[in-house]
Amino acid sequence: MRETEQKAACAYREQFGGEPELVASAPGRINLIGEHTDYNGGFVLPCAIDRRIAVAVGKGGGKLYSADFDETHEVGEKDDSWADYPRGVAWAMGEAGYEIEPFRAAFAGDVPLGSGLSSSAAIEAATALALGALFGFDIGRKDLAVLCQRAENDYVGVASGIMDQYASLLCEAGAALLVDCRSLEARSVPLDLASANLALVVCDTRVERGLADTGYNDRRATCERAAQALGIEELRDANEEDLHRLSGEELRRARHVVSENARVLEAIETLGNSDFDEFGRLMFASHASLRDDYEVSTHELDTFVETSKQHGVRGARLTGAGFGGCAIALVPEAQTDEVTKACAQAFAEATFQEPVFYEFVPAAGAELAEQPS
Ligand code: ADP
Ligand code: MG
Repeated sequence: MRETEQKAACAYREQFGGEPELVASAPGRINLIGEHTDYNGGFVLPCAIDRRIAVAVGKGGGKLYSADFDETHEVGEKDDSWADYPRGVAWAMGEAGYEIEPFRAAFAGDVPLGSGLSSSAAIEAATALALGALFGFDIGRKDLAVLCQRAENDYVGVASGIMDQYASLLCEAGAALLVDCRSLEARSVPLDLASANLALVVCDTRVERGLADTGYNDRRATCERAAQALGIEELRDANEEDLHRLSGEELRRARHVVSENARVLEAIETLGNSDFDEFGRLMFASHASLRDDYEVSTHELDTFVETSKQHGVRGARLTGAGFGGCAIALVPEAQTDEVTKACAQAFAEATFQEPVFYEFVPAAGAELAEQPS
């Protein structure tokens, strides 16, 4: 068992007595490329990270415990705490006709919370996989992801696309996941960073995604207007030619979406050939488009991308919705220290918040752990 899985099992024994019936865990994720394309019916390319939330479950009892918060909640009613995520999953499963009897669950994890690495999808995915197995339902991974999204959208009340839950449930180790957000088809794409001696470095700028809600809704509305002006359902269906029929803000936003979708499709070609130079160029181009056309970058995110570029990274870009949050870079392994030090220094000189750096390995999606013996 992984360390987080052992922690969850241990917490279960301490809180509830006895052995858990099973343990499951699910990862957080980063998005390699394909930003603000999901709600336009386009493509995204996330990969799971080697940080997970584990849950140990058993039948009966009706309690939820988090080792990280050291808190116990009744399964019961929504209370605007972390417990709403597992509650919401049980609710969504019930709504879909999977009868969830009373259960108890203990959680432990190491996905940074609220940093844009999707700890919320990790806790949902782990819960869904565990409850499905505990009560003997045979539910496919995609269906579990849709149930988790429903929990987050309709129970917790956070509007989000399908990417995070898909990544947490469907990713494979050493691979990224191409998701077509219209058809909900998904397939693994090799991401062999180790053979290329590349590290995946994440910079959390620790800037609150303050404007995120209004900015996000505003971008969505503009994309809808642009699609309407073009007489199409979603910008997924627009091409470069169509852009000539747009102007102003609609043109700039649509130009990002059209070019970003094309970049994702190019990116999977480059990964198939392990051509990380070209993949990196697409990452830089994605960042420039998000900065100039979509206007969702920040000085901090730009500083990370520019500084890391000066220090020889293959590619770098903001990841997630922007307006703060995280950026990623593909860094030659021997240069990770140099890059993170240079970026930390650039942040200090600009009097930005001190950033936090992580190095992640593309990891497996949600899994049931070996039965504790
Ligand atoms: P993100 O998904 O980017 O990490 P969110 O705000 O969507 O940020 O989700 C974070 C929330 O998920 C936390 O506030 C908490 O409610 C829940 N959560 C994350 N990790 C854990 C954990 N280890 N134990 C219990 N709840 C967790
Ligand atoms: Mg989240």
